[in-house]
This record gives sequence, C-alpha cells and structure tokens, in this order.
Amino acid sequence: MQPATSTIERWHPTTVALLPMVLALITAVVAVLGFVVWSTGNIDQRAAERQTTMISHVVEGRLSRIVRETASVAINDETLRKTSAAFDSNWIETNVGEWLYRYFRHDQTILLSAQGAPVYAMVDGAAVDVSTVRDMLAGLESLITEARALRPGQRPPPAPLDAPAGLEGQPPILPPRPPPPSVTDFAIIDGKPAIVAALPVIGERAALRPQPGTEPIILAVQFLDGRAASQINREFLFDDGRFTLVESSNPNRLVYPILSASGRFVAFFEWNRDRPGYVMLLQTGPLLVGAFLLAGILIFLLLGQLRRSAAAVENARRLSLHQASHDALTGLDNRMSFDAKLAEAAADKHNANAHLTLFMLDLDRFKQVNDTLGHQAGDELICTVGDRLRAIFGTGTMIARLGGDEFAVLAITHDKPVDVMEVSARIIESIGRPFTLSRFKAHVGVSIGIVMARGRDAEPTELVRRADIALYEAKAGGRNRAAVYEEHMNELLQLQHTIEAELREALCRDDQLSIVFQPLIDQVSRKVIGAEALARWYHPKFGQISPARFIPVAESTGLIETLGEFVLRRACLLGATVPGRTIAVNISPTQLRNPQFSHQVFDILHETGMRPLDLELEITESILLDDEHVSSQNLRTFRAAGIHIALDDFGTGYSSLSYLKRYPVDRIKIDRSFVSQLTDGHVSVAITDAIVKLAHAMELQVTAEGVETEEQATILGSLGCNTLQGFLFSGGMVADRITDIFAAPENAMVSRQQRRTAMRASTAVRAQPDQSL
Ligand code: C2E
Ligand code: CA
Ligand code: CA
Repeated sequence: MQPATSTIERWHPTTVALLPMVLALITAVVAVLGFVVWSTGNIDQRAAERQTTMISHVVEGRLSRIVRETASVAINDETLRKTSAAFDSNWIETNVGEWLYRYFRHDQTILLSAQGAPVYAMVDGAAVDVSTVRDMLAGLESLITEARALRPGQRPPPAPLDAPAGLEGQPPILPPRPPPPSVTDFAIIDGKPAIVAALPVIGERAALRPQPGTEPIILAVQFLDGRAASQINREFLFDDGRFTLVESSNPNRLVYPILSASGRFVAFFEWNRDRPGYVMLLQTGPLLVGAFLLAGILIFLLLGQLRRSAAAVENARRLSLHQASHDALTGLDNRMSFDAKLAEAAADKHNANAHLTLFMLDLDRFKQVNDTLGHQAGDELICTVGDRLRAIFGTGTMIARLGGDEFAVLAITHDKPVDVMEVSARIIESIGRPFTLSRFKAHVGVSIGIVMARGRDAEPTELVRRADIALYEAKAGGRNRAAVYEEHMNELLQLQHTIEAELREALCRDDQLSIVFQPLIDQVSRKVIGAEALARWYHPKFGQISPARFIPVAESTGLIETLGEFVLRRACLLGATVPGRTIAVNISPTQLRNPQFSHQVFDILHETGMRPLDLELEITESILLDDEHVSSQNLRTFRAAGIHIALDDFGTGYSSLSYLKRYPVDRIKIDRSFVSQLTDGHVSVAITDAIVKLAHAMELQVTAEGVETEEQATILGSLGCNTLQGFLFSGGMVADRITDIFAAPENAMVSRQQRRTAMRASTAVRAQPDQSL
C-alpha cells in the first residue's frame, strides 16, 4: 500500500526547488514595474505642480506688466498736461491710445477725466465714441474708485523701458523704485476674460501733480484671448494653452482658474499637461518590456533546461535506486530489498496478527545447466523461473532473487495461513516443467524451505535462518520437495555443522577414517567374488559415526570429493592385490558431475596398479535423473575403459527402467527394503521377480543387498539374482581380512555356521555389523 503523500510531496521536486526562484523573479519584476510606474507618476505630478506654479506667476506677471506698460504714459508730465489742462485728443490718440495699442497690444484704452467721465476711448487700435464704453465702465466701477483713492507720494521718474546697459556690459545698478500707483484685476469685459489696469495720470514732477483724487485715469484692458495664450505658450513652453470659460474634462489637460480680486471666476487657463515621466515611460517602456520579455524567455528556457536536467537526475536516481534494489536479470527484488521489505513487514503493526509465510527456493541441477549449456542459457532459465513465480504469486507478493539460483517469496495473509503444501506443489510443478531456452531445452527442480510465523512473532533474521534450515532439509530429503521448518531441524542442523567441522578435521588426519569391505557373494556358488568398499569413521569423542549421517554432510559441503578420493584410493590399493575380484566403490553424484573425475579414477588405477576390469562404481538413481551431460560422459568413459557400473539402491528412487536404456550400467543392486519384505508376502516377490526379469532382459546383472536370512537368499536365488550381499554372509571387514578371504580356498563358499554367526552379529549390533565373517 502506498503511504499518503501531501500535495507538496507529490509536486515535482524540481518545481519545489525552483519555486522560490520563480517567486523571487516575479517579485523583482513586479517591484521594478511598480517602481517605474510610481516614479513616472511622481515625475508627472511634480511637473504638473511646477507648471501650475509657473502659470500662476505668469498670470500675476501679466498684471504687473500691463501696469508697467501703462505707466510708461501715465507717469509723464506731458500726458498729464494734455489730458487735463491742455486737453488734446489728437495728442492723446497718438501718444496714449496708439502707443499702447501698437507697442503693447492693449485691446482697449480709456481715459477718464478728473470727474470720472470717459473722455477718450480706443478699441482694437481705433478711437471710438466714448458712449460705447459706458456699459463696460459700469462693470469696473469699484476698480476705478479704488484707483481714484490712490495717493501717490513723491517718487522718482519711471525707468525707461529699455534701460541703458551698465559699465562694460554689466547690468546697470538702479536704486529700488516703488511701483507706479495702480489697481489691477481680472474681469470679464464684453463677455470675454481680460486683465484690467487703472492708473492715475500723474506727472513726473510732484509740483505739477494735480490734487489727489482729481487725476485723469487711464484704464488699460488686455483680453485673455488666443493671442495672449499663444504668447504665453511661446514664452513659457505651454502646450496648447488657452483661456476658456468652461473647465476641460480631459485628464491630460491641466486647468488653472483665474479669479478676480473679489473672488469672482474670470477664466480658466488650460493646457496639455507636461508628462515627462509618461514620455520617459513611452520611450523606455518598449525597451523595458523587451528586456523583461527577453529575461522571461531566458528564465523560461533556463527553467526548462533546469527541469530537464533535474528530471534526468531524478530519473537516474530512480533508476539507480531501482537497480540497487532489484535484480537486473529478473527485475525481482534483490537480497538488499528483500531484507529491507521483510524487516518492514515484520515491524509493521498492521501485520501483528497477519500470517507471514516465507518460502526459500533453491533450484536443483541449475549449476549443471549453467555449466553445460552456458551462462546465457542459465540466465534465460533464471528469468523464466522469475516469470513462473510471478504467475503463481501475482504482483502483490514480494518475490526476490537472492542470488544465483536462490529465490525467496514472502506471502502475507490476514485471514488464514497460506496452504503451504498446495502452493509448494504448484511451485514444484511449475519449475519442473521443461524450460525452452533459445537453443536448448532444460529441466531443473526446486527445493523449498518454508517457515511460517505471526507478524508479531516474526524476527527477520530468525525467519530467514529457519527457512534456510527447512530448505536444507528439503534438499537433504532428496530435492525437488518442500519442507516446513520444525524445531528438530534446527538441532539436526547444529549436529550437521558439528559433523562438518569434525569431518574436515578427520580428513586431515589418518587415525579416524577407514575403509571396510563387505563381501559380494555369487548366488549360485556362494563364493566371495568381490567386495564393496564402505567408509567408516571412528571419532574419539562420538565413537562410530554412521556413513548415513556423515556422507550427506560430506556431499552438501563438498568434502565428499576428498573423502571419495580417499575411499577410492584405499579400495584400489586392495583391488590391485586381488586381481579377478570385483571391488565396488560408492560414488556420490557430486563426484560424478566433476569433469575431472574420470582422470582422477584413471590416475588412481594407474598409481595403485589395479585393473579397471575389477573396479565397479556404484552410482544412485538420482544421477540418472540429473540429465547431466558430464555424468553420462564420465560413465561412458569408464565403461569404455572396462570399469563396471552398478546402479545402487534400485527401487528407492524413481526406478524408471527407461533410464537404464539411456545410461550404460552393468548391474543393478536391488535395495534392501525390497529384500527385507520378501518373506512378508508375495507382492514384493512379484516386484523383485519383475525387476530381475527386466534386468536380465536388458542383459544386466542383479545384486540383492541387505540379505539377512537364508530364506531371503533362497527366494532371491529362485528369482535368479546373480549376486547377494548382506549380513547373512558378512558385514564390512578390514582390508587384511577380506584379502585373507579372497586368498583362502575354503572361503569359496560361506559356511552355514559362519552365516549363523553373521546373523547373530547383525541382529545384536545392527549399527555396527561389520567384521562378521
Ligand atoms: P549402500 O551403498 O547401500 O551400502 C550398503 C549399506 O548397507 C552399508 O551401510 C552396509 O553396512 C549396510 N548393509 C549391508 N548388509 C546389510 C544387511 O544385511 N542388513 C542391513 N540392515 N544393512 C546392511 P553403511 O556402511 O552404513 O553405508 C550406508 C550408505 O552410506 C551406503 O549405502 C552408501 O550409500 C553410503 N556410503 C558408505 N560408504 C560410502 C563411500 O565411501 N562413498 C559414498 N559415496 N557413499 C558411501
Ligand atoms: Ca553401495
Ligand atoms: Ca545400496
């Protein structure tokens, strides 16, 4: 079951790693954009404020300017004379009206008499009847009254409009002068906004000056019209500035309201606001956007590249993780992963009541497939075994290849324990089916060790150890079978470990291992025609140890090679001294599978001088089952050299007579389990009879082993057995003794008396029936 993962965990690790970077970038972009927008807005705001301040100064400046311009004629002795005592309208027209119109573009100039009546009026550069301006004057009454109320004091003459340059181009240093007496204001005249100035005409000399309040007054009017606006635009660089009476709703235009001194609205000056920030943004914006886009594309590409690299790294990590935990050949879990998963399963509290069943599998005869058909075939076979196991257990069960031809399966069930026998039978059947490899067909078997435990009791190392013990037991029990772990197996294993260590020691010395020879009796003549060599081990502490116990240990540990060579050499040493007598030697499958074995046999024969004809090698049926190329090759080599081959323990194994056809043997030895039952009923007799007949039909000699009674010997004789062997005649005896028997003519036939003695010996000391003859 997959553990629940949080959203963050499910995200691609690269995304998680890159997220802060992307967020930082977005924040940076937003900050830059924000700053740009803020600063351009700020710049525009400042510019607007500056322009508004400027227009206020400009408009105020207009007022002082009109005063200055008008003062150029109002503060003049001649003007005073010609407008009062020596009134001269022509002179006024030329020097006041036209002057102010031509030089300063005053739109209207009106001269008021000392009594306040208009005495001269010029509109747009042309003298007009004073009656036409009466209405207009009515609107300016307060302004005129204010001007009349002015009390100009002693004052210096006005500066010429074009002031003389100072010394050496320096500006002239003039004393500060008070402004000319005047009243100015903004007003609406004839429905149009205008600036108005009223200046009393005063002479330059105070002596000429009329009585205050009786001066003629010059009224100057300049409309705030398109011309005035253009002039402002030109001089102060306003864009499309104009005077209007209605406020513009265009947000791009700024508006400055012009109010009269009394607070009356007169006009707006509006212009296209100067937006240096905006202009800058327009100019740099595309560049900025381009830069952002470029940066974005670069970052996108970089992220893509990073993602790909990170994905590649992640894939490599997953692959190496998979490789580290899986077997490359089968794709199954490997030993490391098996150990980890087993530990995990045992520790999982959900499994406390679950049934854990561990199957340890070891292929039988796999090594031969590998050695004879090659590693490629071996690999193919292992792969197919993996597939077959998957087919049996499905994907939910943990199947591991622990190495070589070893597999492990961990089944966890919660309701009831696994039917191990049924499952084992399926495994054995499945693995037992022939393997069709690319170039060959092969057969292997499988031994299974099983251990079962409840989750809460499961200790991984102990489970594996027990499953291994059960597997060992299954193999020792004849392979291609399953064994469920039982406690006594453990003890047995301990014993086997002890035996192995002691046997190793014994093989290095010459005082514990020995050979005895059990006579082979010709059934008809009852003559000793040969003997079978049997290994004996006398241990100083444990006493006599049965070959039935130490031979299997020697086989499973490989010690059989040394032990077998020892027995063969001793047997051949004897055989060399008794030519014409058959000396039989038991050969284990391990020895026969060794391609060097035939050389070893011939070397020993050569060394000892024994005739190959006198040597008989006893093999067991399991060798025939091996389907082993080397074994059969060895057998053929031996037969070709005249060495005889006997098939031992016939009837206990698969007993397939068809094997006999394929393998070259000279003799079969009917197992003593048949012989012992001969007197119990006629079934065994019938079987033995069939075996003997068949063997004879195939021109094979038949030996009956384990003959303990005369009755058995008689029956076997009647059935046509060629040779007899058993305690009835003798157990094993030392080399000197059998040599004596071979030499003595009276031993040609074993006496009845001797037979009886042997019988007594065999029943009294069944475990140690040697030396009875
Ligand atoms: P095996 O080849 O069938 O040897 C005959 C066994 O039957 C011997 O047991 C022998 O003592 C016993 N025997 C002989 N006559 C009688 C009888 O009348 N009644 C009974 N009950 N038993 C009888 P042993 O010596 O204990 O050997 C047991 C097995 O150990 C042998 O069975 C053989 O398979 C193996 N073995 C013994 N020596 C060697 C050896 O040098 N090399 C190999 N590879 N195997 C050996
Ligand atoms: Ca034997
Ligand atoms: Ca036997």
